[in-house]
Amino acid sequence: MLAPGSTIGILGGGQLGRMMAIAAVQLGYRVIGYAPAGDNVAAEVCHDFFENGWGDTAALAAFAAKCDVVTWEFENVPLKTVAVIPENLLAPHPRALGVAQDRLKEKRFIQDLGGKPADFASVDSERDLAMAVERIGAPGILKTARDGYDGKGQWRIANLRDVDAIRFPGRPCVYEGMVPFEAEFSVILVRSNDGEIRFWDSTRNVHTDGMLATSTLPAGAVIESQVEAARDLARQVADALRYVGVLTLEFFATAHGPVFNEMAPRVHNSGHWTIEGAATSQFENHIRAICGLPLGSTATRFATVEMTNIVGKHALTAHQALTGTGDEHLHLYGKAEARDGRKMGHWTRCGL
Ligand code: AMP
Repeated sequence: MLAPGSTIGILGGGQLGRMMAIAAVQLGYRVIGYAPAGDNVAAEVCHDFFENGWGDTAALAAFAAKCDVVTWEFENVPLKTVAVIPENLLAPHPRALGVAQDRLKEKRFIQDLGGKPADFASVDSERDLAMAVERIGAPGILKTARDGYDGKGQWRIANLRDVDAIRFPGRPCVYEGMVPFEAEFSVILVRSNDGEIRFWDSTRNVHTDGMLATSTLPAGAVIESQVEAARDLARQVADALRYVGVLTLEFFATAHGPVFNEMAPRVHNSGHWTIEGAATSQFENHIRAICGLPLGSTATRFATVEMTNIVGKHALTAHQALTGTGDEHLHLYGKAEARDGRKMGHWTRCGL
C-alpha cells in the first residue's frame, strides 16, 4: 500500500491524465507526468511534468527515479519507452499494452478467450483488401492496425467499387465487416493486485463520426440483457493479463449477443460519468488499484446519468450553458485550441 505523499508517474498528458491526477492528489499522492511537448493539459494539475520525447531514455530514467509507481493514460505509449521504466514500478503490467496496441493481436487474443469480434482479415496491400472485401463482404471498415483512435485511421467501404478508390495507407491494416448493431456499450472494470474485480454499470454509448458523443444510464433492455456475457469476457481478459487498474472493453449489442469491438487498457471516455454518477470514479479506483488501496464501491448513485462530450468550439460557450439547476457538472480540460473534432470537455447530468 503506497503511503500518502508517495509519487505516481503518469505517461501521457491528456485529459485522462488530468482527471487521474486530480483523483490521485485528492488521495494525498504526488503526481509527475511525462509526455512529448504539446498541449499537455495534465501538466497544470501535476506536481511536476517532464515534456520529453518517448525516445529520450535519460529523461525517462530521471522520471522513473522520482516515482513509486508508474501508470499510463494513453495506450499508444511505445513499448520501447515503457521498457525503460523498471518493470516493478509499472501498473498495469505492459503486457496489456502489447495486446491493445495492435488490433490484430487484440482480436486474436479475444477469440482465444472465446470472445466474438466482428469478422476480420489482416490486410497489407490493395490486393489483400480486395480479397478481404470479397470474403467478408461490404459494407465494412478498413482500420490501421496501430495508432488509430476516435475513428481516425479508418476508412468506410460501402461496396467493392470503393476498394479501387481507396489509397492504401501503406501500413498494416485490418478489414472488418460492418456489425449491424442495435446499440453500443462498454464494460469498465477495476482489478486489484489480489485479483478482486468490480464493474461499473454499462452505459449506452452513442458515437458520431467514430467519436463518443454520449454515454447514458439506464442503458436499456437490449444492452442490459447482454452485459453479463460481456462482463464474463472482460473478467477473463483482466485475469489473463493479471491486470491491475481500470480496463475497458467496448461492445456492439447485436441480435446475436455482444460483439467485441476493442479494448483500452486504461480509464475511458465512456466512464467519465462515474466522477459524479458513481460512488467511486474510474479515476479514483484506478489510483486505488495501482497504489494497493482497497477498491471503492462502483455503485451508481442516480436513476439516470448522461455524459455528453463537448467538442470543438462548443467549449467556448459552455459556461453560458450552465443552467444552475439539477445535478449538472461541467468539466473543461483546459485545451488551448478549440479545433473541430477535438474533445474539449464534458457534461455530466444526473437525475434521481
Ligand atoms: P473504433 O475506434 O474502432 O472503436 O470505432 C469507432 C466507432 O466506429 C465505433 O464505436 C462504432 O460506432 C463504429 N465502428 C467501428 N467499427 C465498426 C464495425 N466493425 N461495425 C460497425 N460500426 C463500427
